[in-house]
Amino acid sequence: MNVVVVGGGVVGLSVAWRAARRGHTVTVVDPAPGSGASHAAAGMLAPVSEVTYTEEPLLRLGLASLARWPAFAAELSREAGQDVDYRAHGTLDVAFGADDLAALGEMADFMEKLALPVERLTGRECRRAEPMLAPSVRGGVLAAGDAWVDPRRVSAALLAALEARGVTVVADRVTGLAVEGGAVRGVRPARGGTIGADRVVLAAGAWSGSLEGVPPEVLPPVRPVKGQIMRLRGAPGFLGRCVRGVVHGSSAYLVPRGDGEIVLGATQEEMGFDTRVTAGGLWELLRDARELVPGITELEVADVRAGLRPGTPDNLPVIGRSAMEGLLLATGHHRGGVLLSPLTADFVAAELDRSPADPVPDHSPGLPGDPPVGEICSPLRFRHGRQAGAHMDEGGAGRPARQAAAPETR
Ligand SMILES: Cc1cc2nc3c(=O)[nH]c(=O)nc-3n(C[C@H](O)[C@H](O)[C@H](O)COP(=O)(O)OP(=O)(O)OC[C@H]3O[C@@H](n4cnc5c(N)ncnc54)[C@H](O)[C@@H]3O)c2cc1C
Repeated sequence: MNVVVVGGGVVGLSVAWRAARRGHTVTVVDPAPGSGASHAAAGMLAPVSEVTYTEEPLLRLGLASLARWPAFAAELSREAGQDVDYRAHGTLDVAFGADDLAALGEMADFMEKLALPVERLTGRECRRAEPMLAPSVRGGVLAAGDAWVDPRRVSAALLAALEARGVTVVADRVTGLAVEGGAVRGVRPARGGTIGADRVVLAAGAWSGSLEGVPPEVLPPVRPVKGQIMRLRGAPGFLGRCVRGVVHGSSAYLVPRGDGEIVLGATQEEMGFDTRVTAGGLWELLRDARELVPGITELEVADVRAGLRPGTPDNLPVIGRSAMEGLLLATGHHRGGVLLSPLTADFVAAELDRSPADPVPDHSPGLPGDPPVGEICSPLRFRHGRQAGAHMDEGGAGRPARQAAAPETR
């Protein structure tokens, strides 16, 4: 089958890789692969520490995808000949004041009720685990199964693996779909002409909701959610695991990379397609990260960036067949696209094999016990109008979403 993937972020590239491995002839079209939200992302694979009171379906998707990550990372590194800095050393969520501690305790109760593997630590135990933590930390919860990866390395490795498998990457913008008799037969790139396809996968991240030439009733209700993020140059071992906590009412996190880089994240702003990095956003990131780990002020700033998360009204991704024959969607992953890429890619690759007349399967193929991806993420759930929904960040619900400092706050 000829498959065209529109968008080369972690989601589109993962889909392309899995589809090529199943023997399809794949073309990726993207003016700048790997440059979207995937370039900004921290790369936490943290469904347990990000669990929220209202988003259990998302937790189930996250756990299923997390279970795939070790094999996904190992196979990708082998095929690409590049390491993706996959680490599975857990997340330590810490609290300072009595109120924080009580809220974290309630969250731990909820996690235990869901049978999630978490461990409660005293302040002293937290500091023993992470000596760079602030002395005022009163306690914490360790989610030992959480992991993380470097999304920039993942994109680079996916591009190398695609090249090794003969996948064509066209550096152009898609400006429309080629449609015949109501079915999609290819895409129209900006440079002109048509790239023919039996199936088209729309994986254009935050731009998926506004792609030109796609009928409005088929476009997913995806909106851009801006996130500012900062990278500092540290020494390997500065932190041993991801550290997070609620500071000044918003959730802050630090992610250590293997080369010593420390990622500080992230703002959440409803600012349309604005990707300016602002003084207020960076100030807030530094202020909050310093409360958690005071030593970060000694580190050199390596990179500052803003990315656009593909948000949906119900915070769930949009994956599977659309109402238009031949068009599949793999988008709307909001704050968890890196985490959810392996599951998304496996599901979409399996869907490509099915005839358009087959019913949507209830269960994605792969590991036993997977959640019903086709049902939870169905593109058809928005047919009756756009839903209203909560907007949460990597911080998760139950903890306040980080908003940028004034005047960006909405
Ligand atoms: C600050 C920040 C921190 C984050 N942290 C995490 C995290 O810790 N863990 C996690 O799992 N997720 C995290 N995320 C979310 C994650 O980055 C996204 O969910 C994920 O990157 C979405 O991937 P994507 O491939 O759908 O989109 P993108 O990576 O945005 O890729 C979309 C691609 O589509 C291309 N495109 C757009 N329009 C067209 C067109 N017309 N034709 C062709 N191509 C087009 C773009 O050039 C782009 O390359 C974070 C996001 C941000 C912003």
